[in-house]
Amino acid sequence: MTTMTAERLHDLFDEHQDKEVLAWPGVCHDCNCDVKVTATPQPDGIYINGGSVFEPETGRFVLKCDTCYSRDPVLRNYQSCEVYSRVVGYLRPVGQWNDAKSAEFKDRKTFDTSIHS
Ligand SMILES: [Zn+2]
Repeated sequence: MTTMTAERLHDLFDEHQDKEVLAWPGVCHDCNCDVKVTATPQPDGIYINGGSVFEPETGRFVLKCDTCYSRDPVLRNYQSCEVYSRVVGYLRPVGQWNDAKSAEFKDRKTFDTSIHS
């Protein structure tokens, strides 16, 4: 689950009963700008201000500023991914390649199977 739900917010307020406002200071996942998201309970619901909060794993919060959220409300690329490619005849994780081979990997072109002649 990557979206924050009202039910989860109520759970968080139950866990932090000493707090009247929940705040997530940090940086936007997409543009790295400073962002501080707050959740404030009101009689008619919980108000979210300053951006949006995602919880891709329990207890791990990821933030987006309002601008990035309005551009793309989906949280993408939030976990690291091991990429394997062939180097000197072997399939090896690209993250473990040396600097020269890593630079070479960036120059590689991928074959587009959708193009037919
Ligand atoms: Zn942003």
